[in-house]
Amino acid sequence: MTDERPTRLSLGGLKLQTLAPLESDGDQIAMPARRPTSGEPVSTRVVIVGSGPAGLTAAIYAARANLAPIVIGGLVGGGQLMVTSDVENYPGFPEAIAGPELMDRFRAQALRFGARIVDADVDRVDFAGRPFRLWADGVEYRADAVIVATGAEAIWLGIDSETRLRGKGVSACATCDGFFFRDKVVGVVGGGDSALEDALYLTRFAKEVHLIHRRDALRASKIMQARAEANPKIAMHLNRTVKEVLGDNTVDGVRLERTDRSGEEILPVEGLFVAIGHRPNVDVFRDWLDLDDKGYLRVEGRTTASNIDGVFVAGDVDDHRYRQAVTAAGEGCRAAIDAERWLEATESQAPGGTAAVATPPSPTTAG
Ligand code: NAP
Repeated sequence: MTDERPTRLSLGGLKLQTLAPLESDGDQIAMPARRPTSGEPVSTRVVIVGSGPAGLTAAIYAARANLAPIVIGGLVGGGQLMVTSDVENYPGFPEAIAGPELMDRFRAQALRFGARIVDADVDRVDFAGRPFRLWADGVEYRADAVIVATGAEAIWLGIDSETRLRGKGVSACATCDGFFFRDKVVGVVGGGDSALEDALYLTRFAKEVHLIHRRDALRASKIMQARAEANPKIAMHLNRTVKEVLGDNTVDGVRLERTDRSGEEILPVEGLFVAIGHRPNVDVFRDWLDLDDKGYLRVEGRTTASNIDGVFVAGDVDDHRYRQAVTAAGEGCRAAIDAERWLEATESQAPGGTAAVATPPSPTTAG
């Protein structure tokens, strides 16, 4: 189930601003406490942008390959699992694990092998030549290779009751949370392929699935429409918008408004799946990296290579099909291996190698 919780709660309110050298303490998450002050660029072999399952898996592999990765993980790091409560489908956790705890473990594992993690947003990049340059929180980072793993965000309806009940019956991931709605009545919002796919998926568990769409025509492909219409568990509620999700700690229903304003109705559902699209986090890369026709980063064939040699892509920022933590982690692994092989090949062609790994600027204690 998804759950709205304070970000980084499970990291003890830790909020890194800049470079955090490793201070490993056994299984504990290292206490990042240093920042560069010299104003000099920070150079390394690989910079990874994003700290969800893709970014941190890339960090684990890159660190173990001695590539001294720096993860610029975002101010709100950890990706979508930071707002997910029980994760029951990540292999290796038969009893389920809380999303933030799973991300703590990814992070601890990356730190253990020497990755450095910066909790800041990348606000500008320059991929015109090597080393690649990235700026975050006023610091310039330089890298011989870059892995972009910035993820995608579900688009929400934007009503207060939806936010309040996220993780308590409101979800944007049917694959993740459908299992919790066995023999229940659920609603799905949206009229695209995702909504219909979610509705069809949910019929495996729920006893009734109510599809709520704001127009009189669905956007989804004809074949998906035909499947949904033929499924006796799915009921369509067209020309309706969700005005409110009802319930205190669980979902009791939704208040719908007819789009011609002819009235409202209460639909008694026990869960609500919002499937109105996802937005990949591509803004800072838009001028450099190719996008596909859906606005996601484009990769070359079955690799993680982008259109720029030495820049690799992993996770939901290029994957609009699977969007799972385990597939993102798998892509992070692939991207790190692609980057390692690419660096090896590039450096073997240029005796002496490319840019040396620079020593991080002399640290001072950060707040
Ligand atoms: P989408 O095609 O953009 O559809 C989004 C749906 O949500 C639309 O029906 C839209 O309504 C509705 N919507 C948007 N904002 C809304 C709001 N604020 N309130 C209520 N409804 C809202 O997104 P998607 O379904 O996630 O699909 C994205 C892409 O992936 C598409 O190209 C799709 O074909 C593809 N996809 C393919 C498959 C498959 O082939 N199996 C599965 C999933 C997705 P309007 O129609 O009124 O705009």
